[in-house]
Amino acid sequence: MTNHKIVIAIDGHSSCGKSTIAKALATRFGYVFIDSGAMYRAVTLFVLRHNLMVDGEVNREELLHSLPEIKIEFRYNPERQSSDTYLNGENVEDEIRQLHVSQNVSPVAAIPEVRESMVRLQKEMGKNKGIVMDGRDIGTVVFPDAELKFFVTASAEIRARRRFDEQTAKGEMVSLAEILENVLERDHIDSTREASPLRKAGDALVLDNSNMTREEQLEWVIKKVKETLGNPE
Ligand code: C5P
Repeated sequence: MTNHKIVIAIDGHSSCGKSTIAKALATRFGYVFIDSGAMYRAVTLFVLRHNLMVDGEVNREELLHSLPEIKIEFRYNPERQSSDTYLNGENVEDEIRQLHVSQNVSPVAAIPEVRESMVRLQKEMGKNKGIVMDGRDIGTVVFPDAELKFFVTASAEIRARRRFDEQTAKGEMVSLAEILENVLERDHIDSTREASPLRKAGDALVLDNSNMTREEQLEWVIKKVKETLGNPE
């Protein structure tokens, strides 16, 4: 019934299917999907390529110096019917999903100046509403006034298994133990960092999808969006 557009914020732990839900909602309601994690991943790829990380420690000074040179964009890819992430004009969508990026992204995302720069971009992308953005601090920091917020979670073992299935399907050689370790480590760093730690916004709806199918989750979130839009049928 209504044409008014809202902001939908989806936060939660790593590998719990936030992007899948966000993408499906965006398609369903004709909204733009923005994967904020991809932005931190792209910065991390820049860090790795420029040898700005040694033994897990980021060379902060060099990174801050280079930060203005890092240009991140999303461009629609009709083949995938989704947006690809570009780093300084190069399509890095596949590379940023690889384990070497996942293993190094949390310390990069913990740097306050990196966050400020990404949050500025994210706010700009959402200024006309009609977006679904997923991440860790979307409902708390980026869009604290979002009309609808979800906090998604599932047990660490289930999340690791899902990521393992996804990576091995792409032909990447990884072990389940290595992935579980990465999931737990990212949870820990993301939740305990000083700058915008992962936490549930007071007004976020919790979705624990440990024992839910994709269809059940989608049905539940679509219902919540319709209710928020004043169109609950
Ligand atoms: O969502 P995804 O797992 O791709 O995000 C990669 C990493 O980026 C997270 O582990 C987290 O460290 C960081 N991140 C963040 N804030 C966001 C989105 C992602 O700190 N809004």
